[in-house]
Amino acid sequence: MISIIGAGPVGSYLGWLLAKKGREVEIFEQHSEIGVPVQCAGFLTSEIEKLIKADRRWLINRTKAVRVIAPDKSSVKFGKDEIVINRTNFDRFLADKAADAGAQLSMNHRFVGFDGKNIKILDMGTNKKKKIKSEFVIGADGPRSAVAKQAGFYGKRQLLVGMQARVKLECRPDTYEAHLGNCFPCSFAWVIPESESVARIGLISRMSDGNYFKQFLRNRLGTGWKNKVIQYQGGLIPVYRPGIKTQKDNIYLVGDAACQIKNTTAGGIVPGMVAAKSLCDSILHNKNYEREWRTKLKKELWVHYRLRKVLNKFSDKDFNNLVKICGSERVRGVIGRESREFPSKLILKLILNEPKLLGFAKLLFKA
Ligand SMILES: Cc1cc2nc3c(=O)[nH]c(=O)nc-3n(C[C@H](O)[C@H](O)[C@H](O)COP(=O)(O)OP(=O)(O)OC[C@H]3O[C@@H](n4cnc5c(N)ncnc54)[C@H](O)[C@@H]3O)c2cc1C
Repeated sequence: MISIIGAGPVGSYLGWLLAKKGREVEIFEQHSEIGVPVQCAGFLTSEIEKLIKADRRWLINRTKAVRVIAPDKSSVKFGKDEIVINRTNFDRFLADKAADAGAQLSMNHRFVGFDGKNIKILDMGTNKKKKIKSEFVIGADGPRSAVAKQAGFYGKRQLLVGMQARVKLECRPDTYEAHLGNCFPCSFAWVIPESESVARIGLISRMSDGNYFKQFLRNRLGTGWKNKVIQYQGGLIPVYRPGIKTQKDNIYLVGDAACQIKNTTAGGIVPGMVAAKSLCDSILHNKNYEREWRTKLKKELWVHYRLRKVLNKFSDKDFNNLVKICGSERVRGVIGRESREFPSKLILKLILNEPKLLGFAKLLFKA
């Protein structure tokens, strides 16, 4: 039996892949409902469509362009096809796929620890603990992974906070906005259109920086901004750090539990699902999971990690310069064509097309 802890998108996707191959899988989820609360901006690169066929139950908008806005309000627009999802429906879709393929889904069941070779699960309905023997135990249990903690390989993690509001806003449904600058310490802010009249506005920040979020909402929505908020959302972002351990004996971590998340954009769904494929393959064919997922993701996650270090040192003037340089047709062409899932290729092509960016690229190895 394979026990997966957590029915987020990564746990359910893995459960689906393994169950399809005839493996006995049980997924334990502590909540009574899949996909709530929403802790995600739901913005994905089109790479997701290489992992799963798009479905209108969860795909709610396709954007065609990204507008990057500098602190001096100058901006540059790139053509880019990306996807906005309804995150609750996305999680439910994947959980249904897993269940249809034969995985057992146990809701209201929380992993609480290990007891020798067994795992201990608390049935929150009856308040009784069960012991379950598993050939493989998989922690797909998110940023604060209890599996990693209880198995003693939680390691040092950097947890950032993502804050977001769904708001009433008249906007272009085909354009995603990314705002750069020191008003957004640690990262950037976004405006993601769900439709012509509803958007998701948010930013990534350190625990203590809540005021930047309010300021951004105020600036972007104008007077009466509080009345335009439909719902606040938020959650933790365990950004990738080199050296994070993801396997110990028959215990594996995947997705946010394994910090497989990009430092620059906080995108974790595509990398988590790519790692889930590697884990499925490793279990089925007795391969080394650490090696398998790192072969696919390590280089790109490392580039995102270094890029974030460089950007964290930028002044507003540096951001203004960067946006200016990116305004050239050559640069816009490259950014439009290359996916941010593969920043190493993107950066190489940018330098080849715009030598002025070489100075920025050199910082990657110095920061
Ligand atoms: C504000 C914000 C915006 C984001 N925006 C994006 C975005 O636009 N695009 C993108 O790709 N990523 C985004 N992310 C990141 C993305 O949400 C995560 O990478 C993704 O949810 C990871 O999926 P997962 O299945 O690994 O973990 P999770 O989605 O965290 O799922 C873990 C599951 O495990 C369950 N669980 C936890 N502990 C236990 C336990 N002890 N027992 C049983 N069950 C347990 C939880 O209830 C949960 O259902 C964002 C994150 C935040 C916070």
